[in-house]
Amino acid sequence: MIVGCGLTGVVIAERIANTLKKPVLIVDRRAHIAGNIYDYKNKDFITIHKYGPHAFHTNSQKVWDYLSQFTKWEPYFHKVEAMVDGQNIPLPFNFNSLNMLFPKAICEEFEEKIIKEYGYSRSVSILELLESKELNFLAEYIYEKVFVGYTVKQWGIEPSELDRSVLSRVPFVSSRNNCYFQDKYQAIPSGGYTKMIEKMLDNPLIEVRLECDYKKLTDTNKYEKIIYTGMIDEFYEFKFGALPYRSLDFDFVTYGSEFFQRCTQVNYPNNFDFTRITEYKYFLKEKSANTVVSYEYPCEFKLGINDPYYPVPNSKNQALYERYRSLGKDNDSVIFAGRLGEYKYYNMDQAVERALEIFSKDIANA
Ligand SMILES: Cc1cc2nc3c(=O)[nH]c(=O)nc-3n(C[C@H](O)[C@H](O)[C@H](O)COP(=O)(O)OP(=O)(O)OC[C@H]3O[C@@H](n4cnc5c(N)ncnc54)[C@H](O)[C@@H]3O)c2cc1C
Repeated sequence: MIVGCGLTGVVIAERIANTLKKPVLIVDRRAHIAGNIYDYKNKDFITIHKYGPHAFHTNSQKVWDYLSQFTKWEPYFHKVEAMVDGQNIPLPFNFNSLNMLFPKAICEEFEEKIIKEYGYSRSVSILELLESKELNFLAEYIYEKVFVGYTVKQWGIEPSELDRSVLSRVPFVSSRNNCYFQDKYQAIPSGGYTKMIEKMLDNPLIEVRLECDYKKLTDTNKYEKIIYTGMIDEFYEFKFGALPYRSLDFDFVTYGSEFFQRCTQVNYPNNFDFTRITEYKYFLKEKSANTVVSYEYPCEFKLGINDPYYPVPNSKNQALYERYRSLGKDNDSVIFAGRLGEYKYYNMDQAVERALEIFSKDIANA
């Protein structure tokens, strides 16, 4: 039995049914499949990502080949801008962003130093730049104008309280390429994510039960193995306390014009309470006289009120997670997987890769 019909649970269910030829039940408390990558077409035939914008990108040939069995793809290069000092500049911060904010002579000096130190077309983390003496000013500037405000809003804490790994995920790109990601494969499933998930579940050996909460099931001991992709602390009834998460409140608005903004995503690091505005028709290049955007407001996760989105990465929370994890170490009939089961932020490709790994190590060869 698999708890959770998100990407992680579905990959494992698909493998069990299609390669081991064994029956599998997959339950989800929500009324739909696909977990957080669920999407649907609205009345204007614009595909909306209900739980926030999802752009698929990967360098993994294995993940790309695996998912390509279930979908065709629409090439898509994610474009993001940030409102800084009243202008929308490209993100990740690159030479074009630099040119929009600094006088020409200063830009040339910075460009030369950056290319000399890191080479052209490299992605350098803000953490690395902050450590470089010559580029310290630029690093501080990006940190202040692009990172701090966004981070404080996103996590509801000061950056100093955050695990340094978050800083290392903020890149500066030493080129004029305005694509947000640099991965080899960047695309959106042609029919949307939910259609891809439907195809993955399309096997009579897979039974899907929606609006079915694991907590309310009474016959769970009849299953050979349980793969649990819900929150690990909830599984153990929060006996050591709750693992913190950040949540998001989405305000979806339809505007009666063809486009609202220049690209899919505009970040607002310093102004307004929301962190970003996403315009959905860009993902699949959908045509409509109207357009839909979402305003994204980060907030605290409250059980039963909103959804757990982002695990909060710090050593205290990791230690609490490990305590929960140790409860299951002598019990190999329950496997914790996915974003909530492993209390770890996974991009979609990482979630797939990890699910394939769990399947081959802990299920197929167990
Ligand atoms: C706002 C946001 C934007 C993102 N954007 C991107 C992006 O652009 N690109 C990218 O690669 N990745 C992105 N991701 C990451 C992506 O969403 C995840 O990699 C993916 O959804 C992980 O899937 P999962 O199956 O582990 O978790 P989920 O999708 O959360 O699935 C878990 C499922 O378990 C169910 N469940 C939990 N407890 C129970 C229970 N007790 N009983 C029954 N069911 C239960 C839940 O209802 C849920 O459907 C984003 C994530 C967020 C939060």
